[in-house]
Amino acid sequence: MRILLYRGDGVIEPWAREFAAAMPQVDTVAWREGDSLPRCDYAVLWSPTPALLDQLAHVRAIFLMGAGVDALLKLGDALPPVPIVRLGDAGMGVQMAEYVAHAVLRYYRHFDDYEQQARHGVWDPLPLTPKQDFSVGIMGLGRLGLPVVEAMRLFGFPVRGWSRTPKDIPGVECFHGMEGLDPFLRATRVLVCMLPLTPETSNLLDRHNLGKLQPGAYLINVSRGAILAEPDLMTLIRSGHIAGATLDVFRHEPLPAPHPFWNEPRISITPHISALTVRHDAVLQILDKIRKLESGQPIDDVVDRDLGY
Ligand code: NDP
Repeated sequence: MRILLYRGDGVIEPWAREFAAAMPQVDTVAWREGDSLPRCDYAVLWSPTPALLDQLAHVRAIFLMGAGVDALLKLGDALPPVPIVRLGDAGMGVQMAEYVAHAVLRYYRHFDDYEQQARHGVWDPLPLTPKQDFSVGIMGLGRLGLPVVEAMRLFGFPVRGWSRTPKDIPGVECFHGMEGLDPFLRATRVLVCMLPLTPETSNLLDRHNLGKLQPGAYLINVSRGAILAEPDLMTLIRSGHIAGATLDVFRHEPLPAPHPFWNEPRISITPHISALTVRHDAVLQILDKIRKLESGQPIDDVVDRDLGY
């Protein structure tokens, strides 16, 4: 079996080593612009060029080295008519839970205030907010949303969830569809965005929808920057309706130097690291799916091109 490995950043060697260690009988090949591609059974990719995609109509499936598919689906007609399979958790769910738990607890336990106090030599215990006034609303209850739900439940926060299709998750107040969005937002104090970027979710977090959150709300965006209308967040932060935001993803990455977010102390910025691909777990998951496909079994995480995720 031959597998093509390609990454836009050219870092292929560590992936080839993981594949060789996990399944020595697999032959991996790399590709560079201008090369002609030998016949491959599968392709494992991140940020492919249209010239590469042009040569992939014969592969049995394309596997992605990440969970987000928006950038690939944007290539539209350049995509060959073969199944596209994304990573499903593969070590990223626990990282998302760590990241979101850190941000929520930081706000809930006033850690920024204590940091300020300490810098000024102040010793002043602040009152604890009742948990019922600190509901966490998670948009997107998929592979990465569910571990975050579990973490929030572990800490005893009231958890609300919003998805496209109806869900029944014990201990979680579930909402779905556009008709469920308004009641979901209105009783949410901390909004966590874990949605894929699709035509339906693009700019969903605008002034109108963020304005429905409870006063003094917080926003944590760990999925895709273009879901958030960035100027609208600045307006709501300046008005005090939103008390703080933790953002890992941005419309343009890296976040450009003159962007107003850099100078807003109530906005915390991280460089798209909330859940990094764990190469070892990713390779094991991809090989497991290849084995299933080879024996005619169904696999999870096949992208629905019409839905966009
Ligand atoms: P999944 O496909 O497993 O889950 C997506 C969830 O979003 C589902 O619950 C789905 O609803 C819901 N959803 C999709 N469209 C809508 C809609 N229009 N209205 C309401 N709900 C909707 O994705 P993952 O959990 O694996 O990943 C989520 C996103 O996280 C990725 O698309 C990627 O962009 C981002 N990501 C960010 C990383 C980072 O480091 N910052 C790392 C990895 C991923 P339903 O269940 O009904 O289908």
